[in-house]
Amino acid sequence: MYKNRICIIGDGLVGLSTALSLSELNLTIDLFCPKKNGKISVDGRTTSISPSNFQSLSKLIEKRHLEKFWPIRQVDLFKESENGYFRFMKFEKDNKNIMHIIENNKFKEIFFRQIKKKKNIKIKNGIVTEINKQETSITFKKRKFFYDMVLLCTGKKSELSKKFLGKRTITKDSNEISITTFVNHNKDIKDAKQYFFNEGPLAILPINPNKFSLVWSLNTKIHHLNIKNLINAKLTKIIGKQSKFKLAKIKSYPVSFKFNSNYSANNILILGEASYNVHPIAGQGFNLVLRDIEKLKDEITKFLGLGISIKNSLIIPNFLKNRKPENLIFGLGINFINNFFKYNKITDPAKRLILKSINEFKFFKRINLRISDTGIFK
Ligand SMILES: Cc1cc2nc3c(=O)[nH]c(=O)nc-3n(C[C@H](O)[C@H](O)[C@H](O)COP(=O)(O)OP(=O)(O)OC[C@H]3O[C@@H](n4cnc5c(N)ncnc54)[C@H](O)[C@@H]3O)c2cc1C
Repeated sequence: MYKNRICIIGDGLVGLSTALSLSELNLTIDLFCPKKNGKISVDGRTTSISPSNFQSLSKLIEKRHLEKFWPIRQVDLFKESENGYFRFMKFEKDNKNIMHIIENNKFKEIFFRQIKKKKNIKIKNGIVTEINKQETSITFKKRKFFYDMVLLCTGKKSELSKKFLGKRTITKDSNEISITTFVNHNKDIKDAKQYFFNEGPLAILPINPNKFSLVWSLNTKIHHLNIKNLINAKLTKIIGKQSKFKLAKIKSYPVSFKFNSNYSANNILILGEASYNVHPIAGQGFNLVLRDIEKLKDEITKFLGLGISIKNSLIIPNFLKNRKPENLIFGLGINFINNFFKYNKITDPAKRLILKSINEFKFFKRINLRISDTGIFK
């Protein structure tokens, strides 16, 4: 019996999770990873996963690997003020986990180990150089390969995906970069924290009680300053003068809000940061993609169940109709939050006044937790 053939290009979180998720269906999958000798590309970021996405992942990942994710029960939000900073919001939910945090490199390693066990996934190491949308084919090491569907998970910088994206994009360049590093310390920090400093939002995401990932989104103008000194000064304020801490290598990632109006062509679909990116302030980028992958899997399952070939089917149009509106609304919402917290000498006193009473609105907090867990329309 003919098995539909899917090509997945890219070894980021998106390519790996898509391959693992779709491997549960009656499909043949080729996964193209750029590194040689069966290695995966390095990624210095950290990811927080929402409870419902964590539950979906737990069906794909062995239990022993799930223990590598750090569970978070509380998230505190702080705003800078004249006298330091004050806590304006505390998120918690009946003593349940409200997110799980893991380093991207570890996350990818787990995915990769699971993928290697799958008989219907073939890993091919090297760069895909061309895609032909008329033939649904790709060129790899000067040879053409033909498929029923091609999923481009090639990230923000990829030239390959740019050819498929129309000129119409919603772009908001916020002139920001995200600085990330890991901090080893002697304090016991188990909960996540987000500080809205005048320079920009700084997140503390624990990956164990003595190590956290720091993500600080800063205006590109202050990039020339000594970032290490800036982080050291802030951390001394946050975790106290008496505590000891050590920073790992600092990495930076450009930040923008970008939403392409078109992210498909015939049987080719672009997934992940190659199609849209949201500001990292809310830790939602990969969570949105996990919901995309779930919807794509549902659509493919439906068509396979009917015995219809996935090639030239309604899978991609149905997927886009369902997922594009939510992704756009989410991206715009996160952008609004980021703009609200941007420092402004004139409006900041009024903002602080609003924030001081916002923690009392239990309904608002519940809605926030629900949307960041399951999305807007669920
Ligand atoms: C600072 C920061 C913090 C974040 N924190 C969170 C968070 O807490 N929670 C959350 O949900 N999201 C978060 N995100 C978003 C999340 O990190 C991204 O959504 C996700 O990592 C994107 O993965 P990707 O696979 O699309 O892209 P990438 O990670 O860029 O991977 C693409 C891969 O494709 C490969 N590739 C490219 N071209 C080719 C080719 N021609 N052939 C073969 N391979 C190719 C590349 O080498 C690369 O390895 C954060 C983002 C940032 C910037």
